[in-house]
Amino acid sequence: MKDNMNFLDAELKTLKEEGRFITPRVLQSEQAPVATIDGKEVINLTSNNYLCLATHPKIKKASIEAAEKYGIGAAAVRSIIGTTSLHEKLESQLAEFKQTEACLVVQSGFSANVTVCQSLMTSPEDVLISDELNHASIIDGGRLSKAKKKIYRHSDMAHLEKILKSDEVQNARRKMVVTDGVFSMDGDIAPLPKIVELCEKYDIVLMVDDAHSSGVLGADGRGTVAHFNLKGRVDIQIGTLSKAFATVGGYVACTQKLRDYLGSVSRPFLFSSSAPQSVIASCIAGLDVLYNEPEHLKTLWDNTKFFKSELKKAGFDTGDSETPITPIMVGDGDKATKFSQRLFEEGVFALAIKFPTVPKGKERLRTIVTSGHTKENLQQAVEIFTKVGKALKII
Ligand SMILES: *Cc1c(COP(=O)(O)O)cnc(C)c1O
Repeated sequence: MKDNMNFLDAELKTLKEEGRFITPRVLQSEQAPVATIDGKEVINLTSNNYLCLATHPKIKKASIEAAEKYGIGAAAVRSIIGTTSLHEKLESQLAEFKQTEACLVVQSGFSANVTVCQSLMTSPEDVLISDELNHASIIDGGRLSKAKKKIYRHSDMAHLEKILKSDEVQNARRKMVVTDGVFSMDGDIAPLPKIVELCEKYDIVLMVDDAHSSGVLGADGRGTVAHFNLKGRVDIQIGTLSKAFATVGGYVACTQKLRDYLGSVSRPFLFSSSAPQSVIASCIAGLDVLYNEPEHLKTLWDNTKFFKSELKKAGFDTGDSETPITPIMVGDGDKATKFSQRLFEEGVFALAIKFPTVPKGKERLRTIVTSGHTKENLQQAVEIFTKVGKALKII
C-alpha cells in the first residue's frame, strides 16, 4: 500500500525521543484500589474512582436494570429522540445537587466545557479569561469560541483583577472568567471566594469546572461552590460524571434561561449522541449513594490526610495539594518515568506526568487515593515509594 503519511515517521520518532509516546497500561480487573494491571496485581493510585462507585453493588444493579428495561442505548442525539425520561430525571437531580435552577447533560466533561465556551462566546468582541492551568477542554472550548483569550497566572488574583479592569475587558461585548475548581495536576483549590468577588465587582460571568471536586468537596460532595458557601454566586458550574461518579458524561448546572439556550444551540448536544440509559441510571443511583452513604466521602478524606502526611514524613515534596490528588514532585521527565516503572515492579501504580501536561521542571507522579484503599494499602505504598525514592535519589 502507498504510504502517503510518511510524515508520521518523523512525528513518531520525535514523540519517542522526547518520551511523549504513550503506551497505556491495561486494566484487566475491575477498577479497584488493588487492581490487575498489565498482568500484575498492584496498589492502584491512578484512577478518578474517588468513592469506589465504579463497583458499588447498588449502582451496578441500577445499570443492569436500565439496560434490561430500555436496551443498550438511545441511538439518537439528545435533540432528536435521545432525551429519555431518565435523562430528564438526572438533569433535575443534578440541578438539585448543584443547587441551581437547571442542568444540561452532555457526553463528557470535555463536551460540557466546549458547549458553554462555544455557545456563549461567539464574537471576537467577547473575552474569555482563563487560569493558565485550566484543563485542556477549557482551552479547546476557548479555541472553538470566537472570543479573545486572556490568560491569568495560576490563581493570581492581582493579575486577574488587572485583566478584569483593563479597557479591553471592560469594553468587551461578553466576558467570562473560567477556572477549574480543583486543578487536576496539582490538586489545589481555586480561590473561588475572591474570584466571585472580582466577577461581581466587574460584572463578569463566572464559570467553574468542578470535574475533580464533584463527589469530593463540600457537603455531600457538591463541589467547590458548596465548599466555599457561594450558593447562587457562580453563574455556571461544570461537572463530570466520569470521575467520582465513575461512568461517563458531563453537565452544565446553570439558570433555566441558559439551559434553554444551550438546549437549542450546543453543538455536542445537537450533533453527538446521547448517553445510554444504563449510564444515566448509574449516575442517578450514584447520587443516591452520595446522599445516603456519607461514609465513603469521610473515608476518602481520612485516607487523603493519612497518605499525604505519611508521604511528607518520608520526605517527599507533595506540592500545594489540598485534595485527594497528591503530586509527588520529581522535577525531571526521565526520572519520573523511571520512578513510575520501578514502583510498578514493586507493586504500586502511580503515573508519571510530564511535559507538556505540566511545565518542564515540574514533572511528577500523580496519585489519587480512593475511599476503598485500606490503611495497610497506603502504608505499604508509602514504604515502596520510600524504597524506590531513595534508590533514585528523589528523597
Ligand atoms: C477530567 C476533566 C475534564 C473532562 O471530563 P471528562 O468527563 O472526562 O470528559 C474536564 N475538566 C477538568 C478540570 C477535568 O479534570
